Amino acid sequence: MVKRKRVLVKFSGEALAGNTGFGIDNSVVKFIAQEIKELVKNDIEVGIVIGGGNIIRGVSAAKDGIIKRTSGDHMGMLSTVINSIAMREALEHTGVCVRVQSAIKMEAICETFIMGRAQRHLEKGRVVIFAAGTGNPFFTTDTAATLRAIEINSDMIIKATKVDGVYDKDPEKFEDANLLNTLSYKEAMEDNIKVMDDTSIALAQDNNLPIIVCNMFKKGNLLSIIQGDENAVYSIVK
Ligand code: UDP
Repeated sequence: MVKRKRVLVKFSGEALAGNTGFGIDNSVVKFIAQEIKELVKNDIEVGIVIGGGNIIRGVSAAKDGIIKRTSGDHMGMLSTVINSIAMREALEHTGVCVRVQSAIKMEAICETFIMGRAQRHLEKGRVVIFAAGTGNPFFTTDTAATLRAIEINSDMIIKATKVDGVYDKDPEKFEDANLLNTLSYKEAMEDNIKVMDDTSIALAQDNNLPIIVCNMFKKGNLLSIIQGDENAVYSIVK
């Protein structure tokens, strides 16, 4: 039997907010659900991690000293659960079978993360959304995504963004910014390159997990990258 590809797709909470910058834009959630459905239809096993920055980030919540950082981070992790539920609904609406597993137990709302159970869902062709980050403060959802990708033996982690990949300078500010096709983990940790935070890159490096950075908002892009289309545009950290 041919081994199916397994991927972990990570996108930020801000991606869900669309142009408003806050909350959840249902048209965006619907678009992403369609893109994920294409992966499932093509026999790709999909895990998803969504950030929470469209609702609350721990650091910002704690900035004036009223809310403790750890509490801010708890609020941030709960934000990712809200986003995950929205994504679950949109996926179910398009006919995709999906489960949410939270790192923090909330049994009235979703399953708790159990690695073996997540593996079984994936083998059965169900999408699994990993919510509530790592369950610990002081981490990011990029680190949570890398951790889950390693735990489920994902072939790659896909950091899905609104740009085509990693540039040598900010493409929104500089016209002469160049897309970097391939980077080493060490290069990805350099200060001017904002792929993911250093903790997540170090974790990926220690476990030889390739990081793909790509544009999620081009229709069909995720599928062509995973299927190895030679015209697909993205950056890879390996
Ligand atoms: N968070 C946390 N532990 C984790 C993952 C996330 O405490 O393992 C909190 C943290 O406060 C973070 C927030 O959840 O700011 C939202 O996650 P993140 O900032 O990574 O979201 P994104 O920027 O991807 O939308």
